[in-house]
Amino acid sequence: MDVPRLIRMARETPVGIPNDLFLRLRLPDECNVFPNAQSFREALNGHRPMPNSPTLIVCESGDRRVLEQMSLPFEDTHYDFYMDPAFNDVLCMRYEFLRSLATIPKQSQVPRIFVELVKRTQPRVAVIMVIDGLSYGEARDFIPSTPCLVDGLSLTREGMLRIVGSPTLAERLFSIGYRSRIGFSYWDRHNDLGNEIFRVFATDQSCVVKSLDDALMRLAEMKLEENTFVQIVRSGLDSYAHHHLDRPPVHELTAEICADIRRTAQVLASMADNYLLLVTSDHGILWEDTLATSSILPGGAGSPIRYYSANESVPQSMRKILVAVDEDGHKALPIRYLRRALGSREWGCHGGISVHESFVPIMVLAPDRGKSSA
Ligand SMILES: [Zn+2]
Repeated sequence: MDVPRLIRMARETPVGIPNDLFLRLRLPDECNVFPNAQSFREALNGHRPMPNSPTLIVCESGDRRVLEQMSLPFEDTHYDFYMDPAFNDVLCMRYEFLRSLATIPKQSQVPRIFVELVKRTQPRVAVIMVIDGLSYGEARDFIPSTPCLVDGLSLTREGMLRIVGSPTLAERLFSIGYRSRIGFSYWDRHNDLGNEIFRVFATDQSCVVKSLDDALMRLAEMKLEENTFVQIVRSGLDSYAHHHLDRPPVHELTAEICADIRRTAQVLASMADNYLLLVTSDHGILWEDTLATSSILPGGAGSPIRYYSANESVPQSMRKILVAVDEDGHKALPIRYLRRALGSREWGCHGGISVHESFVPIMVLAPDRGKSSA
């Protein structure tokens, strides 16, 4: 959907639009938006003066018939916020509002979302897989995904800790009867982050693996004697963004990750009639090709590329532009700014605020739902 064209049309005549939260957020403040056809008809019948501004009517299916009776047009093309560069500005300007909306899944809610799904579907084996670096917009090409807002700094440690939560997923699942647990990751317990996100896993409950194949082989050999919780970390595109010789093939790498996700679901299906696999990511990636027109701020050598910590001094010119993303005083940069240029082997970055970094996928795979999303 071309939003500027829609606004031009809505200046001429009231236009019906689908009930899409992202589209409504994208509409400029000058728009006069009616929440349904009935409220528009009441305004007309009440002879209230209509403001001289673009008029839009949010339509569910019943509303469309009302619009037809009134000979008003309906714009039924889908609005894709991820592909609309202007949504990056909406994200920065309305970040606090987005964070407050119950209708958009947030990363800090992943533990609650997962536990509720487990309670509802009672799987024999409940699995969470966290991909290190994967944007919603890339993942959805391969597996249906729900966009999930990274409600905080878009970094590995912060993202992983939000997903694991406190109390941790393992603790929450234990309290609802998932007393058996197993964790798979590339990091051993001497790694600080590995130690934190697997902190309640005993040594014999966590496995260091070299590949997802290793993890799946071990999983397939497991005998499920009781309800079991599995936590897996799989590498994503993060390491390719930070260090790679030549341009990483992002689409092909994403395809491989998603093939692994489907393979994991197949292994789970062979182990239990009823399984649940929720896949998400710690943060997305802002790739170099999207950065072509970004400004490099002065004096940023050696600094984080996309955010300021609470104790750093922020240039006066940036104070109104930066977005406070958490309660610890971190401030993220919008898409058009970097603190330093990418190095010769860097192909992307994260830590800032953009649709690429700040929206990760939530995918839910389960036997009765096949490949549906949350
Ligand atoms: Zn990461």
